Amino acid sequence: MSDRDGFIWMDGELVPWREATTHVLTHSLHYGLSVFEGVRAYKTDKGTAIFRLKEHTDRLFNSAHIYMMQIPFSREQLAEAQKEVVRANKLESCYLRPIAFYGSEKMGVSPRGAKVHVAIAAWPWGAYLGEEGLEKGIRVKTASFARHHVNVTMPRAKVATTYANSILANLEATQDGYDEALLLDTMGFVAEGAGENLFVIKNGTIYEPQITSGLCGITRETVMKLAADLGYQVVSRPITRDDIYIADEAFFTGTAAEVTPIRELDNRVIGEGKRGPITTKLQARFFDLVNGRLPEYADWLAYV
Ligand code: PMP
Repeated sequence: MSDRDGFIWMDGELVPWREATTHVLTHSLHYGLSVFEGVRAYKTDKGTAIFRLKEHTDRLFNSAHIYMMQIPFSREQLAEAQKEVVRANKLESCYLRPIAFYGSEKMGVSPRGAKVHVAIAAWPWGAYLGEEGLEKGIRVKTASFARHHVNVTMPRAKVATTYANSILANLEATQDGYDEALLLDTMGFVAEGAGENLFVIKNGTIYEPQITSGLCGITRETVMKLAADLGYQVVSRPITRDDIYIADEAFFTGTAAEVTPIRELDNRVIGEGKRGPITTKLQARFFDLVNGRLPEYADWLAYV
């Protein structure tokens, strides 16, 4: 990833891609505390637009607030910087990665005395779980590792340290040939995917786990609104792994994963074992929306 042309925004200015580096004694590298976002920009008829830029920027600041990290820029500055990165790299559609981290000014667990640095990179990134996954659905395995208890790493924060847990789960699933991992919470209820939220559909009703130890996904909230506007009932309640085994349909949502159908969990075929009809409809609405074809949701698109 580091050897390419283009520009990365770092601490207030655009720097050539290969020069956007940090020291090996970077505090966040050692102690795992950086807060970040995953954002996408899509090509529309009216130009490139960043999807839900305000909500992603707000979540970044909320993550920092939870960890008492002072980001030395305003929300407006970072929202504008995200647009600037897309323009500078001449990207029509892309993934953006804003990150705030502690620098190499000091060592030791307390970050006091370390400077907060902010970087924003953007690059083209296709379907996270594969084009085929978007169309045919993916195979998922329940992880033996639980999602963090709500009083461990703070689930409302999108913080790097959560992802060591995601990596354990993802490696376990993918080494056994599955596409992605599903994590349960410490009570045993469904939390989320390693980098996605989950929905299940049964008898025409859409269910999603009450968000406790999972991340409050922006795609999740988007899909809940799209589903409600299409007249579906969306119910939030505790979900067990076997609720998914006997569901008619299931899918993951996420900025990277977009809307990805799940065709199998733990070797149990879900429904017909393919992208189901309601998932198909919601996925199509989602792509219409992010590509600027649904004027009623135009407020969610920030043109660069
Ligand atoms: N859960 C986790 C652990 C994630 O990493 C992500 C991706 N950011 C999500 C859920 C989905 O969140 P969003 O829709 O805001 O990308």
